[in-house]
Amino acid sequence: MKPVSIRLRLTLWYFSILAAGLLAFASLVLATLQHAVHRTLDGELREHMTAVHNILREDANGPASALQHDLDEDAELAPDLTLVEIWDGNGRIVYRSPATMGFHVFDRLPQIAEKPMTRFGRHRPLRVLVQNVATPHFAYTVLVAIPVHDFEEAIEQVKTVLEISIPLLLVLAALGGYWTAGRALSPVLSMIAAAEAIHPNDLSARLQVPEARDELQRLALTLNRMLARLQAGFERITRFTADASHELRTPVALLRTRAEVLLRRTRTPEEYEAALKENLQELERTSGLLEELLLLARADSGAETLQFADVALEEIVRAAAADMRAVANEKHLLWSVDLPPERVHVDGDAAALRRMLLVLLDNAGKYTPEGGEVSVKLRVDPAHAVVEIRDTGIGIGEEELTRIFDRFYRTDNARARTTGGAGLGLSIGRWIAEKHGGSIVVESKPDVGSVFRVVLPRK
Ligand code: ADP
Repeated sequence: MKPVSIRLRLTLWYFSILAAGLLAFASLVLATLQHAVHRTLDGELREHMTAVHNILREDANGPASALQHDLDEDAELAPDLTLVEIWDGNGRIVYRSPATMGFHVFDRLPQIAEKPMTRFGRHRPLRVLVQNVATPHFAYTVLVAIPVHDFEEAIEQVKTVLEISIPLLLVLAALGGYWTAGRALSPVLSMIAAAEAIHPNDLSARLQVPEARDELQRLALTLNRMLARLQAGFERITRFTADASHELRTPVALLRTRAEVLLRRTRTPEEYEAALKENLQELERTSGLLEELLLLARADSGAETLQFADVALEEIVRAAAADMRAVANEKHLLWSVDLPPERVHVDGDAAALRRMLLVLLDNAGKYTPEGGEVSVKLRVDPAHAVVEIRDTGIGIGEEELTRIFDRFYRTDNARARTTGGAGLGLSIGRWIAEKHGGSIVVESKPDVGSVFRVVLPRK
């Protein structure tokens, strides 16, 4: 189906409603007019019929001339053009009012019309009342009529005026409506043009916001906010891709250089073995990075789903801490784990929670110098389970605290000291905590240490 513009649709609606309204109005005006005319005429007809009745009964025994005289007198009193005809039982005309003379209402005995009605007498419309009147000696048929020609003509004139003015009014209103709708919708057209000009390569463009505080202004503001979100998302993805490529380029270049150097001349088996071991380490680190990247990409696209179940959090903490113990020993760290004696039930994904804890424990180990202290504590309150990982490491500057959860972000201090991760661990950890309806908060002071707290809702 061909699309119909809102402008045209609005105009058509407007036109139809107005047309229906005006037609109803015109019909009402005409019907009211007609009704008013009939009511007045019918009143007169009835009054006159009563008068004729009375005369016929009063003069029933008198001479015919007296009857004639009384009826003529009565006819004179009646409004102009009130016609009276009286027929006897044999269908002969007995009396005709003077006004009727030149008029000739009906040639034959008219049909009885107990209630006033409109009839055509000699091509002219008449409002007539025809009744039988019985006196002791005679039976009459009395007709009282008023020509309605003039009234009908007046009503016809009103009708003509309405017939001309209504279509004219409708056309003018439709044109006005079309113009108004066009004006009201013109910001939409400019929004369409502006939106079409926005290219994915440059999402910084914004729609012009109409001045009027109406729905279109809201639409423009909403679309602009959506564009801002899209732009931020797009920039994040672009930055992520660039950072990811950069992070991957380094180990690939390293592996390649090592291999090239190794192949320059023949090496002893020990040399080959040492080089291969180095490369293997690098490859393990790179595949870890690739796995982290993949997880984040899947998290972004919503493809990474967690399997929630009733898990014992203290067990997960215990196992993760035990895993890190070897590293801690190697670095001579003072390592302590404090767990509650009871079960701590959490609705969660055991593998994901373990992964999150390993990130935090690994960081605590990595960023704490030899001989430092790392403590892991799990405590509960009625609604939450809190895992606290405290270290006496290099700490994090205040202005960097908000950024450490950003992807690829590493503090200057960390960069200078270790060749640790790529800065993805905490963003993965935060994603996992949030998926569990929890959060990770951090307190830290440079050269004093850090406390990372994972707050999870209890089951
Ligand atoms: P990375 O793999 O580099 O450790 P993370 O995302 O886990 O990446 O951490 C981001 C940055 O936050 C780290 O590079 C480091 O600068 C800082 N950081 C994280 N944990 C600690 C900690 N316990 N002590 C000091 N700095 C930390």
